[in-house]
Amino acid sequence: MEKQLYYDYPYVKEFDARVLSSEKRGKFYETVLDRTAFYPEGGGQPADGGILDGKTVLDVQERDGRIFHRTAEPLTAGSLVHGAIDWEKRFSLTQEHSGEHIVSGLIHRAYGYNNVGYHMGEEIQLDLDGVLTWEQLLEIEHQANEIIWKNVPLHIWYPSPEELRSIDYRSKKELTGTVRLVEIPGADVCACCGTHVERTGEIGLVKFMSMIHYKGGVRIMMLCGRKAVRAFDEKLDSTREICTLLSAKPGESAEAVRRLWEEGKEKDLAIGELTRELFRLKAMAIPGGQKVLVDTESGFSAVEIRKFCDYLMQEKKAEVVCILRKNGEGKNASLGYCIGSLSRNLRNAAGELNRELHGRGGGSPQMIQGSFSADEDKVREVLSARFAGGEADQGD
Ligand SMILES: [Zn+2]
Repeated sequence: MEKQLYYDYPYVKEFDARVLSSEKRGKFYETVLDRTAFYPEGGGQPADGGILDGKTVLDVQERDGRIFHRTAEPLTAGSLVHGAIDWEKRFSLTQEHSGEHIVSGLIHRAYGYNNVGYHMGEEIQLDLDGVLTWEQLLEIEHQANEIIWKNVPLHIWYPSPEELRSIDYRSKKELTGTVRLVEIPGADVCACCGTHVERTGEIGLVKFMSMIHYKGGVRIMMLCGRKAVRAFDEKLDSTREICTLLSAKPGESAEAVRRLWEEGKEKDLAIGELTRELFRLKAMAIPGGQKVLVDTESGFSAVEIRKFCDYLMQEKKAEVVCILRKNGEGKNASLGYCIGSLSRNLRNAAGELNRELHGRGGGSPQMIQGSFSADEDKVREVLSARFAGGEADQGD
């Protein structure tokens, strides 16, 4: 196998290598080098990005013991090339990978739970096969950060098969061949092929963001290092903006939101009373006992036309009450409708009405709601033809 510089020299950001082969595979070219600092996807850690011979490295994969660098254009076999890995990305992944080991190791030591699923995306997703409380998790976070701030060196080695048998270490699967062990003193010993920091201090910070119950255990979302600090900045910006909007002091945003919410509830109650009063006054001007009543209330919302329709039904103003409101302008104009009746089956009539008035919508036998692409006169005409003809017919 080619020389894996990311193991021997994990801080190498640029390197020179010879191209052994560069062949087309699917839409891309895959290049094999005699040595590389590009880490291939593996052990839960995404592949490195970067530049190789002036070309963007799109992916790095390991297959059959060889490392393939994927690019859009080919490289020249036999040539000497220069590679530069995207260090910001790699260092973040390294902080996250070492941080995840500390957390998984501490949880395993304290509770015996295993890391059974692991994904490094925007946040690190960690699935455990046992349930923890948020308080227990915060205690783990506290211990993890103490180990980070002690800045202890990691120990990475390849034990002999005899030595390996005497070591208690975490591993996802039964391992064969040479095993690479990563020890973080005080936290963890784990078989791993990923990249790690030299000392824990480089991780900077571990922060749990959320936890949900998942498949009999829990799924934890966490951040490490640079990404944790970036997330802190974003949350601070957002809190600052909320405080400005609420004219609240920093740290008092929750109290200000609670006040706003209570004021909102009081306003809703007052609006409800005023709306009922408005309905009562409007209803006074409408004669009762009609067959079909069509009324347009464009100042009302979709919810309000439904409430007004219901109010007029209960007041027995008509057998069939239809409240309309104008939606949109010009070509997009339509009429929102709510039709209610205590005696006619409107669900049965909805299909026919929507067909004749180019509308859509439906509901219950007592009330249907939707929109028509027709004018008010046409709605009045169609509803009168359907419902003003005396007794309820069989279909209604
Ligand atoms: Zn690992």
